[in-house]
Amino acid sequence: MKPAAFAYAKARSLEDAIAQLGAHKGEAKLLAGGQSLIATLNMRLSSPSLLVDINGIGGIGGIGVKNGTVEIGALARHAALERSSDIAKHAPLIAAAMPHIAHPAIRNRGTIGGSLAYADPAAELPACLVALDGEIDIAGPNSKRTVKASDFFKGLFETALGSHDVLSAVRFPAASADTRVGFAELARRHGDYAMVGLAAAAQASGKRLSDVRLCYFGVGATPVRARKAETALAAGSVDQAVDALDLDPPDDIQATGAVKKHLAGVLLRRVAKQLMEKP
Ligand SMILES: Cc1cc2nc3c(=O)[nH]c(=O)nc-3n(C[C@H](O)[C@H](O)[C@H](O)COP(=O)(O)OP(=O)(O)OC[C@H]3O[C@@H](n4cnc5c(N)ncnc54)[C@H](O)[C@@H]3O)c2cc1C
Repeated sequence: MKPAAFAYAKARSLEDAIAQLGAHKGEAKLLAGGQSLIATLNMRLSSPSLLVDINGIGGIGGIGVKNGTVEIGALARHAALERSSDIAKHAPLIAAAMPHIAHPAIRNRGTIGGSLAYADPAAELPACLVALDGEIDIAGPNSKRTVKASDFFKGLFETALGSHDVLSAVRFPAASADTRVGFAELARRHGDYAMVGLAAAAQASGKRLSDVRLCYFGVGATPVRARKAETALAAGSVDQAVDALDLDPPDDIQATGAVKKHLAGVLLRRVAKQLMEKP
């Protein structure tokens, strides 16, 4: 199928993009990497009257590390994150997740901002950002605001972004010597969206883990933290963490909820091993 007709505008700045969205009263959509948006247009799941291309906006595509914080601009491509030595060193969870996101051609165009704004419940980056206790900068018509990643994902493909907002950057604490991360997912084919996935972060104190954050994807409408399992894992028992898994995944086209719950336990054992190993 071909998309419905739409107009195209290239934004010159964040303010220009916000103004163009405002001038078209909920009828316009931002175009970043286009890797999700263009598919939805082609399938006519979405038919905006205007696409506002943000690819030419300067200053929102960088990767930086300052004062123990990693900051990534919305337009940073998946491939740039995958190849970044700063990400490898200071954001090992993002580095571990990257090869699982789609295929190289898609990673060459797709952006972190697009992935978070699209908020596919089976996507890797939303869960990583929640596991890292990150935050998201949003530029709107009259103000800029920052939203915790845990408050950003509101429902199925629904976020804290308003129709005139642009996601401009994300931030999260850089990994320290005591940081442990774990990542695993099960997909039917490498590069497909996950049936179930798990992104995790913790602090190691001696042989114990503290501040354990287990964030699943593909098990609900948004990234889902398994809080009882986090407590059990911090207490040192992987078996009890698996028994305590407080997830209730719905059936979807990939698998039944019961299968997903079983797979979540399998992934927890794999990720717990990564968290407990010294890097
Ligand atoms: C075959 C295939 C397989 C894929 N597999 C995976 C996978 O396994 N895991 C995964 O995570 N993703 C996967 N993707 C999606 C890919 O990661 C996309 O790149 C990503 O979801 C969207 O990023 P984008 O930059 O392409 O955004 P676009 O497609 O340009 O935009 C997506 C949505 O976000 C909005 N948007 C974009 N940028 C902003 C912004 N800065 N502020 C506010 N709103 C914004 C757009 O208006 C649009 O509604 C796959 C895609 C394809 C085609």
